[in-house]
Amino acid sequence: MKQEHDLRTIIKEAKRIVFFGGAGVSKGSGIPDFRGTGGLYTQGGYSESPEEMLSSTYLKRCPEKFFAYYKNHMLYPNAKPNAAHLTLAKWEREGKLTSVITQNVDGLHQMAGSKNVIELHGSVLRNYCVSCGEVHPLSHILESDGIPRCRLCGAVVRPDVVLYGENLDGAAFMQAQEDIACADVLIVGGTSLTVYPAAGLVQHFRGEHFIIINQTRTPYDSYAEIIIREPIEDVLAGL
Ligand code: ZN
Repeated sequence: MKQEHDLRTIIKEAKRIVFFGGAGVSKGSGIPDFRGTGGLYTQGGYSESPEEMLSSTYLKRCPEKFFAYYKNHMLYPNAKPNAAHLTLAKWEREGKLTSVITQNVDGLHQMAGSKNVIELHGSVLRNYCVSCGEVHPLSHILESDGIPRCRLCGAVVRPDVVLYGENLDGAAFMQAQEDIACADVLIVGGTSLTVYPAAGLVQHFRGEHFIIINQTRTPYDSYAEIIIREPIEDVLAGL
């Protein structure tokens, strides 16, 4: 099995890297992995499951409880980009990375300086009024008491995040497919590639080098040229 020194050579020669990442990328920034140990799915104390509480029907049915849960578990306003975010932004500036495709909603790639970020699940930084569409910043959600209300019409302001029961952003998904299909190197990092349809994106890769950097196994491990089971920020910082 090839390892880090080979990866260094691949990155050096790459012209169109696409990075596809998940929760593991933000873990080093203190944002818990959705499904890992200490993640959202393993935190008890609620009568409903996180999938239920973060669903579109729950937002409509029990907005007060939705926002209480959302503010407590989905918002990390003090989180800062880590070495993984910063390295990817640097590769983009150097002209060797096409785009970052992320399942995260924290906006840390942009904060690190990445411009071409495809957010499959939206972003907590964007929020909009369900009635008039007026856009509100994250601070409006953080500063609101209970249910955030539109400053123009008073209706509920919701995050531009794909909730359970909602479809992925179709345009973002198409763009992700296209970028992966044109990439010469695909790096999958910090995701176990188990959540569809996003996980199926890697099937569009036609390039030369398919790299997986993830601490646990993924269903695509047998297709990878290099697999590294270490924290993504350590691996990317070392390149
Ligand atoms: Zn409004």
